Amino acid sequence: MLSARFRPWHVPAFIAKYAYLVAIRRPILVHFEVTLRCNARCGFCDYWQTDRAARDAELSSFADAARFFNPLMITFTGGEPTLRHDLEDLVRAVARAVRLKYITVITHGGMLTPERATALWDAGINQFNISLDYLDGRHDVARGIPGLTRRIFDTVDGMRARGIDGIRFNTVIRGDNLDQILPIVHRAAAAGCGVNFSLYTDAKNGNRDPLVGAERARELQSVIDELLAYKRRRRGVITSSDHYLRQIPRYVRGEAREPCRSGIRTIHIDPTGRVKRCPDFPTDFHWKDFREYQPIACHACFYACRGEAQAPMQWSRVQDVMA
Ligand code: SF4
Ligand code: SF4
Repeated sequence: MLSARFRPWHVPAFIAKYAYLVAIRRPILVHFEVTLRCNARCGFCDYWQTDRAARDAELSSFADAARFFNPLMITFTGGEPTLRHDLEDLVRAVARAVRLKYITVITHGGMLTPERATALWDAGINQFNISLDYLDGRHDVARGIPGLTRRIFDTVDGMRARGIDGIRFNTVIRGDNLDQILPIVHRAAAAGCGVNFSLYTDAKNGNRDPLVGAERARELQSVIDELLAYKRRRRGVITSSDHYLRQIPRYVRGEAREPCRSGIRTIHIDPTGRVKRCPDFPTDFHWKDFREYQPIACHACFYACRGEAQAPMQWSRVQDVMA
C-alpha cells in the first residue's frame, strides 16, 4: 500500500532498486534509531529507562549514513523518535541524500498531533507506523500512557483530514490480544489505514507474560487463517506479507529454524552511528566501517523485521504494494 504521492512507475523502479541492492549485497532497509529515549512505560521493553544524558551523544544528522547505504527503505525509529525536536530536520536531510526511497517513522503516537505529522510529512515521511495492540484501554495500560488510544484515533482522523494517506498501525500479536487482531483490521480499514503485524517474543527484556504459548497455537492459526482470507478478499489493508503471516504459527510451534538474515536485508544504526544487525543485538562497528553480515543461527525472535527479511519476492507481495 503506497501513498498516493507515488505513481505506478515507481513500482518497477522500486523493484529494480531492490534487485540491485540484493545483487550488491547491501541492506534494503536501514533503521535509524535516532534516540533510545522513550516516555512510554512498556513492560516488555527497557528503552524508557535510558538515561536522559544519552541525548548528548545522539547524532545531529544521519544523512551521510543514508548516502553511504543508499537504501530503498528508511525507517526513523527509537526509542520514541518524536522526542527529537529536530526530527523534521533529520528526515529532510536524509530525504535529500537518497533519490529513490520510501521513508517511514515508527511511533507510539502519544505525542503525535496532526500538525506535527504534517510537518514530518512535508519533510519527507511517506508512512507513519503507529503502535496499536488493542482497541480498548488495555493499550493505554500496556504503554503506560493514559488516554493513548483515543489520542491515536483523534490524531489519525486529523491526519487523514489533512490528506496524509500513509498511515499504518503496527500491531504486535500477543497471547492476550488474539481477540483484537481482526477488530483492529476492520478499524484500520474504516479509518483509511493499513495494519502491519509482528509477533511478540521476549527478546527485548525477557518478559514472557505476553508470549503466545504453544498451547494457543491452534487459536493463533485460526486468527492467521482469517487474516490471509481477509487479504484474499481485500488487499491494501493488511500490509504484512502472506509469507510472514504463514510463518508465525510455524515459529510458535518451534518449526521455523531457518537462519536469521537480519543484518543482510536490514540493519539498525543506533543514535551514535553504530551498526547492529537487529534491534536486540549489541552494536558491531560504526557505519563508516560497515562489513557485511552473515546469516546467524539465532531464533530469539520472530519480529516482522526478521520474518519479512526472509520473505521471498512473491506475486502476492507485488499485489500488496499495488493495492
Ligand atoms: S516498546 Fe516502544 S513505546 Fe514501548 S518503551 Fe519501547 S520504545 Fe518506548
Ligand atoms: S532472531 Fe535475528 S532479529 Fe531476532 S534477536 Fe536473533 S538475530 Fe536478532
